[in-house]
This record gives sequence, structure tokens and C-alpha cells, in this order.
Amino acid sequence: MRLVVSDIPEEGLEKELNLSVKLNDNVGPDAADVSLTISRIKKIVLVEGSIKMVMSLKCGRCLNDFSSPLDLMFSEEYNPVEEISNEDAHELTDAEMGLGFYQNDEIDLVDLVEEQILLEIPMKPLCKEDCAGICSKCGQDLNVKTCECKIEEVDPRLEPLQRLKESMNNRKRS
Ligand SMILES: [Zn+2]
Ligand SMILES: [Zn+2]
Repeated sequence: MRLVVSDIPEEGLEKELNLSVKLNDNVGPDAADVSLTISRIKKIVLVEGSIKMVMSLKCGRCLNDFSSPLDLMFSEEYNPVEEISNEDAHELTDAEMGLGFYQNDEIDLVDLVEEQILLEIPMKPLCKEDCAGICSKCGQDLNVKTCECKIEEVDPRLEPLQRLKESMNNRKRS
């Protein structure tokens, strides 16, 4: 869904949209209720909005799909990318990095909404705070049941003790 910047009237625009957004290659798409207030000062576009939806996510620990509600408000300024690159090629400042950009007099509203949502999702979303994850040996989902694998790492501080025990056992045997 494309918004033509030069078509935004002086008094601004209100938009109520139901968009289909895809947050992850493996799950979704999801329907998002989006309400936007769009205003423009020359070429600078200010978008204020709210997004309500149930997100389909994949747990970063147990790899199961799960859903999580989102109720997000945002406000973001969009500048034409041409303006920035026309200025002498300086490194983008932090302030500029935080800005949204658009190109060719158009803003894609689905991209805009997806970007705002992705900013809210942690790198490794969890289906629950204490998700037990999967066993690295057998792949069992440890939220469902525990597996027989033992983690055979001996605490290095206990190693001398372990050796002593072994040598005592050997002595008993001989
Ligand atoms: Zn999980
Ligand atoms: Zn296991």
C-alpha cells in the first residue's frame, strides 16, 4: 500500500487500515489494525500511529510458534533519501540513523508498519520467560518432558576429588 508524499494534503491525512504483515519467514502473515495520522511539512512527513495485533512468533529457545499480543504507539519522521545523499557525502549521524527515509515521493505503508513492529520484537523472542528450550543432544522439547541425556561436564574444581575417588576405587579392586 503506497502513499504518495506530494498527494498528502496540507491539513494532513487520517487512515484506518487493516494490513497483512509478515514478521518472520516461517510464521504469519498476521492481520494488524493500524490507525495513522499523517502530516507533511514540505518534504518531511510525520507519521503518528497505533498498531494493534496478535503477532505470530517463533520462540528463540524451543523453536515453537507462539502468539503474542501487541499494542504499540509510535511517532516517526520520514525524510526523502535524495535530500540526504545530495548533501556532501557525510557519515550519517545518530540522529539521522534514527530517522525514517522514503524514496521517489512514495512511502510504503506496509513496510513502515512492519519496521515499527520489528523494532518492538526482541532478537530472540521467548514463548515464556522460563522456556526450558530443547536438549542440545537429543532435541527433546524440555518444556514437554525431560530427556535422559546427562550433561557430563565435571566442574573443574571437583576434578581432583573425582580423580582421588577413582584411584581409591582402583585400589579397592586390586
Ligand atoms: Zn520456547
Ligand atoms: Zn536430551
